[in-house]
Amino acid sequence: MAVTEPVAGGAYGGAHAAHEGILRRQSARESAARTYARALPIVPVRARGLTIEGADGRRYLDCLSGAGTLALGHNHPVVLEAIRRVLDSGAPLSVLDFATPVKDAFITELFRTLPPGLADRARVQFCGPAGTDAVEAALKLVRAASGRTGVLAFTGAYHGLTAGAPAASGGAGDVRVARLPYPQDYRCPFGIGGPRGAELAARFTESLLDDPKSGVPLPAGMILEPVQGEGGVIPAPDDWLRRMRQLTAERSIPLIADEVQTGVGRTGAFWAVDHSGITPDVMVLSKAIGGSLPLAVIVYRDHLDVRQPGAHAGTFRGNQLAMAAGTATLTYVRENGLAARAADLGSRMLSRLRESIGGLPCVGEVRGRGLMIGIELVEPGTDGAASGGVPAGGDHPADPGDLEPIRIPRQAAPQFAAAVQRECLKRGLIVEPGGRHAAVVRLLPPLTLSDEQATAVLDRLTDAVAAVARDHLDHRTHHRRHHGPAQRTG
Ligand code: PMP
Repeated sequence: MAVTEPVAGGAYGGAHAAHEGILRRQSARESAARTYARALPIVPVRARGLTIEGADGRRYLDCLSGAGTLALGHNHPVVLEAIRRVLDSGAPLSVLDFATPVKDAFITELFRTLPPGLADRARVQFCGPAGTDAVEAALKLVRAASGRTGVLAFTGAYHGLTAGAPAASGGAGDVRVARLPYPQDYRCPFGIGGPRGAELAARFTESLLDDPKSGVPLPAGMILEPVQGEGGVIPAPDDWLRRMRQLTAERSIPLIADEVQTGVGRTGAFWAVDHSGITPDVMVLSKAIGGSLPLAVIVYRDHLDVRQPGAHAGTFRGNQLAMAAGTATLTYVRENGLAARAADLGSRMLSRLRESIGGLPCVGEVRGRGLMIGIELVEPGTDGAASGGVPAGGDHPADPGDLEPIRIPRQAAPQFAAAVQRECLKRGLIVEPGGRHAAVVRLLPPLTLSDEQATAVLDRLTDAVAAVARDHLDHRTHHRRHHGPAQRTG
């Protein structure tokens, strides 16, 4: 049941053949490492706001938004205008790390948005253009400033994919990472979830830092995402974030907030750390700050600024078009209150999704913050039985009534998430599965999403999830009829 319409007027005559040809050549010539393009055989030729037009003449609602890059959607007029202005001005386009009026304006606007504790004491460093470059820069910064080497990071974290270049360059050594539990409700490692699960996660971190035999020396820094994106759209509770700030501050451990995906209004605050009111020592920013063009920076407290010139370099640190597009985007989000809009619309979308599909046996959890929304798909009927345990310090089985039951989540179902993505595509909606088990269908729509567009997105999405749930049921009934009771179906 495709609801995508061909582009009026057939601007792409013989379009289908061209579309097929491009896709065929892509699979013949591009790396096996390509990702999004595999499950989404789209050839974008034109785009505006939420909508992408493919070379085959179909239109799609794009809720992948360049992996969360497009705060204002595709080709927003203020972004295009800012880019045109630079092009028409005769300004150089690539200037290493020279000062320019375009960069000066970008820094002024960026500093205006920063958490107050950081804004008046901030330094900014322009990095290579990817989020992962800025993460590398942040880790180098805290290692240089602290004189220590190790880093604390969290389960399910995603900070980028660079690894080999610094090691092969003979400069920096390996970064030793100690992994700590990130709080989560549905797959809480302690089987509790909620505020108590987060409290246990915080206590574990605290004891690891204070136990002289924990095997983890005092680290150079702690890096975290205020909402894990690639990890499956998992918002950290504000209390937990404040605990991490307190634990690190008390021990002089710089706290790095990776806001590559959560920044610029996405989660319903301009920066996701604003929800908790904390001030990190370092913020890692990319994606939306370049207004759809490549740009990455770190912003940090001036007391960390102890390095030598050239301590972190990179050829492409001076992308003037990205800075202009970024300034336009930051300004537009701030002036139009798009963070508050994301908070309001996002919470309405979450409620609607919980009502419409939250109760389906193949849906484990619907969660998110602002316009960062995830639906975790699970295997129906794989709930673990609630179980007891022994009370702390005791060796006798306890009265189960004394114990909080351990919650065991259903098994993640990546095949359902992939099926939902396919069903969405048929209905003209682009979504991307992610999460630890690739079982979370993710939505990252532009912050400019209108109520009507949100309704269209949710209609298509709920319809797609319902279709996958129905298929599964039909499959099970069929299986039972022909093979006897099913064991575990998928
Ligand atoms: N940090 C976070 C939180 C991210 O979500 C990403 C990308 N998804 C990165 C870092 C890496 O960014 P890039 O892909 O631009 O290197």
